Amino acid sequence: MLTKGSVEIGLETRFGPNWPGVRCGARTKAGGECQRPAVKQTGRCTRHGGKSTGPRTQAGRIVDRLVRPKYNDALRFLDEGLASAEDLDKTCCMGLGYPDGPIERVIRGGLARHYDVSKSLYEMTGQHGYAPVRRAVVAKLQEPA
Ligand SMILES: [Zn+2]
Repeated sequence: MLTKGSVEIGLETRFGPNWPGVRCGARTKAGGECQRPAVKQTGRCTRHGGKSTGPRTQAGRIVDRLVRPKYNDALRFLDEGLASAEDLDKTCCMGLGYPDGPIERVIRGGLARHYDVSKSLYEMTGQHGYAPVRRAVVAKLQEPA
């Protein structure tokens, strides 16, 4: 629990007020300092600029390993001029019965995040399908530090 003014807020966690580690410290919407643990490289938490640590559940890992190569293919098709983003998405919705298209989905999730996840999968597996594609690399380079 954290004390804010004279009020105690939050739930007890393993990162309680006496946790000796480094905290994020980013300014929150409420005006306080973020108390989440900082990621080593950036000094911020994963919500405030820390690198994603990837999916936490087995289901999340399976989904990432299935969809990241598909996102890479779709982004590569865009670069090759195979179709517009709208047409690629519409084709996947109509042809495969997806509720939304891969381009829409990967952009919603963030291209820089896609870079982080696919790069870590590529390093883990060595499989070429996970290697981050050009658009993801560009998004990562343009990401604010
Ligand atoms: Zn934070």
